[in-house]
Amino acid sequence: MHGRIDILVGETPEPGGGAGRGRAVGRPSIQVWFACAGAYQRVFRAVDGSKYQARCPKCGKEVRFLVGPGGTSQRVFEVRC
Ligand SMILES: [Zn+2]
Repeated sequence: MHGRIDILVGETPEPGGGAGRGRAVGRPSIQVWFACAGAYQRVFRAVDGSKYQARCPKCGKEVRFLVGPGGTSQRVFEVRC
């Protein structure tokens, strides 16, 4: 089991002023490139909205992308494991 890395992801403003908050449709997502698996994975934000949690399909490494002010606005991340 490898370690895990945390990356802070910026808040994404919700279209419609947050009226649609809580709906499963339209949940924000990010793309994670797992170099060791050679594959992209689309990761949806956790239900509580605090993080994205991805797992490498090849080696099982867990990667957490925390959500908060001051984070990056990047939507595509590369993970080497
Ligand atoms: Zn891996």
